[in-house]
Amino acid sequence: MNPNNSGVLAPTHPSISLEVDGMTCASCVGRVERALKAVPGVEDASVNLATQKAEVQFTQAANIDAAIQAVQKAGYEARQARSDAAAHDELAQRQQVESDELKRALIISLVLTLPVFVLEMGSHFFAPVHHFIVNSIGLEVSWRLQFVLTTLVLVGPGRRFFRLGIPALFRGAPDMNSLVAVGAGAAYLYSVVATFMPGWLPEGTVHVYFEAAAVIATLILLGRYLEVRAKGRTSEAIKRLMGLQPRTARVQRDDDFIELPIAQVVAGDVLLARPGERLAVDGVVVSGESFVDEAMISGEPEPIRKQAGSAVVGGTVNQSGSLTYRATEVGAETVLARIIAMVEHAQASKLPIQAMVDRITMWFVPAVIIAAIITCIVWLIWGPSPALTFALVNAVAVLIVACPCAMGLATPTSIMVGMGRGAQMGIFFRRGEALQQFAETRVVAFDKTGTLTLGKPALTDLVLAEGWQRSDVLACIAAVEGHSEHPIAHALVEAARAESAPVLRVEQFQAESGSGVWGVVEGRRIEIGADRYMVSLGLDPSPFADVAEKLGDEGKTPIYAAIDGRLAAMLAVSDPIKPTTAKAIAALHELGLKVAMITGDNRRTAQAIGRKLGIDEVVAEVLPEGKVHEVDRLRNQYGALAFVGDGINDAPALAAADVGVAVGTGTDVAMEAADVVLMSGDLNGVPIALALSRATIKNIRQNLFWAFAYNTALIPVAAGVLYPFLGVLMSPIFAAGAMALSSVFVLGNALRLRKLQLPVGSGV
Ligand code: ADP
Ligand code: MG
Repeated sequence: MNPNNSGVLAPTHPSISLEVDGMTCASCVGRVERALKAVPGVEDASVNLATQKAEVQFTQAANIDAAIQAVQKAGYEARQARSDAAAHDELAQRQQVESDELKRALIISLVLTLPVFVLEMGSHFFAPVHHFIVNSIGLEVSWRLQFVLTTLVLVGPGRRFFRLGIPALFRGAPDMNSLVAVGAGAAYLYSVVATFMPGWLPEGTVHVYFEAAAVIATLILLGRYLEVRAKGRTSEAIKRLMGLQPRTARVQRDDDFIELPIAQVVAGDVLLARPGERLAVDGVVVSGESFVDEAMISGEPEPIRKQAGSAVVGGTVNQSGSLTYRATEVGAETVLARIIAMVEHAQASKLPIQAMVDRITMWFVPAVIIAAIITCIVWLIWGPSPALTFALVNAVAVLIVACPCAMGLATPTSIMVGMGRGAQMGIFFRRGEALQQFAETRVVAFDKTGTLTLGKPALTDLVLAEGWQRSDVLACIAAVEGHSEHPIAHALVEAARAESAPVLRVEQFQAESGSGVWGVVEGRRIEIGADRYMVSLGLDPSPFADVAEKLGDEGKTPIYAAIDGRLAAMLAVSDPIKPTTAKAIAALHELGLKVAMITGDNRRTAQAIGRKLGIDEVVAEVLPEGKVHEVDRLRNQYGALAFVGDGINDAPALAAADVGVAVGTGTDVAMEAADVVLMSGDLNGVPIALALSRATIKNIRQNLFWAFAYNTALIPVAAGVLYPFLGVLMSPIFAAGAMALSSVFVLGNALRLRKLQLPVGSGV
């Protein structure tokens, strides 16, 4: 990859990323988003629960402080996110601390809850336990003991639910903590009254529910702990990329190389990489010679030879020799840093489905609280006696079972794992939406030169017209083509050099995009290009028709050269097909897609190549402007379309397609216009990206189904609608278990994407 393709990651609007603390469930997401969008100058804001980050896009100069204050006013903590290595180390450390804290809280909670559970539930399950308690310590002592232990649970490890949930409730913005706090708090207070002021309660309702309060707190802590641990694993891809970045570098100061923290390296510094060391930043080799393993950046498995003048990329591994290199790009400007930023940005983006999820969850928590109040009232009025007990227990069960945290995690966790998996294989999604669009793709259209083929054509044939000399013709052609960037031009220049044709001076040069070039060489006008170019000049290429057809059928591209208005020669160049192309196309067919090729090349040549590769539809002799038109036509015919290309002239088609895929051997402009970037030129990345997109979207659907179906289906059960018919009630303990399970299920399901079977050899 070219380290200077600075356009790859440029965002469309100026945007910043905020780290937001204190968001515990899906309903917080909408709240923070609304607060941010209300800030003047903010164009758009998108909050991600899994990354705990907000992406804020500004129309005017960024007023970061105003955005941070808005988030704080909504009840959360915010700070600007950095994405350098140090920031990631800090984040990893914070996650570790959080995970350790939760673990400690969980263990304490568990130890305190267990005796409460045994004292109370044990008596329900085993009559002997009940008798034993009554006969030994007595019911009253048992209740007081439970009171002490449960109080410790709630003021100790369970304090977090009240500290966060109660203020949120009073702000009129209840969240998941509010539900737990109200649920566990109600069970606790009722039990306190039953224990110490039994007279306050009506006859027959004097029971304690300490175990419910304690078990709810413990189970939710367990869910949180598992969640934090799973979340850590969803960002493995980023961590792995971060791990490629050395923390220190050997930098020349005076006459010595000294080891400095990476942050102190500036552009222009001369650095040393010893054998086996990672290069620290992007640069140009000053001296030394070595092979460098660039697999992590380009996916290219073979180490690449570097010598004075070669470009090198930070994060790649120097193999055999020592290299000194001058830093050209440092910090956030390096290729690696920009790849990391691109992955983070895409992982934090939202799919169209998410908008619906967010709208629903905004109203979910308030709706649940209302449902709990209704449950309470209905049981008080129509319930069997003891009505108060039933009302309380069922209302608590409703509050606990309906916690919507699984909903908030359903989409972002799958996106993170899916995209992370892609990143490990050199497949980078630049926009999250591309995942959903890719999954819906019906037809994949490829550019030919440089995409299906190596883009390194070579001259294979040269047929002269009567009266021309090979070395003279070749010399004229090479002189003109020396000014062209086209791969065909390189082939012709190369051939002239190999045959030691004389070097001539060019007086004028002009490229006719998509058809040919012309120039003036030592007073003679030279025109080179496709048959249609010759025709447009009023020349008749038919004397060569037979040879041209034969060469075209062999997959070679016929080119014509005219000198001073007379047809002088027909040449043929052949561009080898990449060894991996056939397999990639077969894999796409296996996934049920149509495959098309759009090229400016000769029709016969294109058809020959199409036949060889089993391409369904070959569109040839298209001018660069015409590619967009062909993209639209194919889309109308087959449905959603992905376009795969590498060149500057592909950018409009990449942008016009539903999904634009740039293959990484290409240019900056192509990557800029693309939605998905394949770092290596191996087209197998296309079926892999497609299969990955489909699997991720399917995974999200499963998650959403579970999160929604589960939460909503269990609310009526918790409210007790089955009781009149089946006599079934859901205990708050079971509700807490069910709630914790749904989050764990969603995370576990998302993590399955890491083990997903992908269509072809992924190289990783
Ligand atoms: P592609 O779509 O395969 O990238 P282009 O649109 O770049 O192809 O070019 C289309 C055709 O125009 C080529 O196949 C060739 O016949 C002709 N052509 C373009 N540039 C040149 C050139 N510099 N020299 C000779 N022929 C050219
Ligand atoms: Mg091309």
